[in-house]
Amino acid sequence: MNLLPEIAALESDMRSWRHHIHAHPETAFEEKVTSAFVADKLRSFGLEVHTGIAGTGVVGALRQGNSQDAVGMRADLDALHIQEKSGVAHASTHAGKMHACGHDGHTTMLLAAARAMAQRRNFDGTAYFIFQPAEENEGGGRVMVQEGLFDRFAMKAVYGMHNWPELAVGKIALREGPLMGAYDIFEIIATGRGAHAAMPHLGCDPMPYAAHVINALQTIVARNIHPLEAGVVSVTQVHGGDTWNVIPQEVVLRGTVRTFQPAIQDLIERRIGEIVTGLAATFDMTATLRYERRYPATINSAAETKHALAAATALVGADNVDTNPMPSMGSEDFAFMLQEKPGCYIWLGSGRGPGTPNLHNPQYDFNDDALAIGASYWVTLAEAQLPAQAKVRAAA
Ligand SMILES: [Zn+2]
Ligand SMILES: [Zn+2]
Repeated sequence: MNLLPEIAALESDMRSWRHHIHAHPETAFEEKVTSAFVADKLRSFGLEVHTGIAGTGVVGALRQGNSQDAVGMRADLDALHIQEKSGVAHASTHAGKMHACGHDGHTTMLLAAARAMAQRRNFDGTAYFIFQPAEENEGGGRVMVQEGLFDRFAMKAVYGMHNWPELAVGKIALREGPLMGAYDIFEIIATGRGAHAAMPHLGCDPMPYAAHVINALQTIVARNIHPLEAGVVSVTQVHGGDTWNVIPQEVVLRGTVRTFQPAIQDLIERRIGEIVTGLAATFDMTATLRYERRYPATINSAAETKHALAAATALVGADNVDTNPMPSMGSEDFAFMLQEKPGCYIWLGSGRGPGTPNLHNPQYDFNDDALAIGASYWVTLAEAQLPAQAKVRAAA
């Protein structure tokens, strides 16, 4: 393990920053105290600090030398609506809110990287430290892009990471192409004609329609997409009816679709529409479909994946880098940044062995042993992606 000495020296600071953020979790777009904490720290390290991007987002710029070259690194600030049950000393002091996805660790590692790079000054160009709000559900990454993140801060590439409890601490996993899935949602509203349950012939019952739709939706992945392509169609809500003896007027189905490839996403959306409409005709029913694309797939570009691999290998050694992990159908709003800029998103091992609580579990707590690894990865990667100081001096 080649931890950087400037990062190793921050070990106790990182733990105390992480525990402070963990104890004071804030959810999507309300990360005011966390955002102020980050901005204060960046200023104290001597960075140029930009606040108020996507509300609570912060960008720290560290400039050195004359090169126009720049890279971006991104962390997320937000917590989740979960009542913490970890029992740790630094557990959440905010009822019903918790850092159950480790964004406290992500924020801490990026802060430490900024501190170390500001000390080392071992590059020529600009390193941007991007702290985004609302990764969970609300797409703060998309809002930052919409508010001009890459127009205001020109950079050639942007990099992301997420701690991964299924992977042992000390290991890193990454791959070119999709690593996380696209997240879509759908809502089907079937409207029939309510009736007395004993006189179904006088009404038009949306219940059998709903049952057939749920079954037919499961044929999309099984029968319509290529056997070696991936897709998930899950119906997660069924709402209809109030009592024993009434055929309801309406049934509402809701669910989610996960894919990696846009062509598969298009196919699933089209087939859901055809099933909803076709079965509505069959059952003499009115049915509407609302299909919404929330997060795109997180797709790593080829060259930047090589750069990330080089940094990971230099840090933890080739034996500890998994270059072909099974992608996850979970989703990640860093995908919006990767739609605008080439880059690479990696999984940073944070597992403590079997039984490690996974992300979004009330017993989860970020593994502090991963802090120095993640922070060293950032510095190693950014310094390698920017021209070296020595070379600049030699050329001058
Ligand atoms: Zn999460
Ligand atoms: Zn997360």
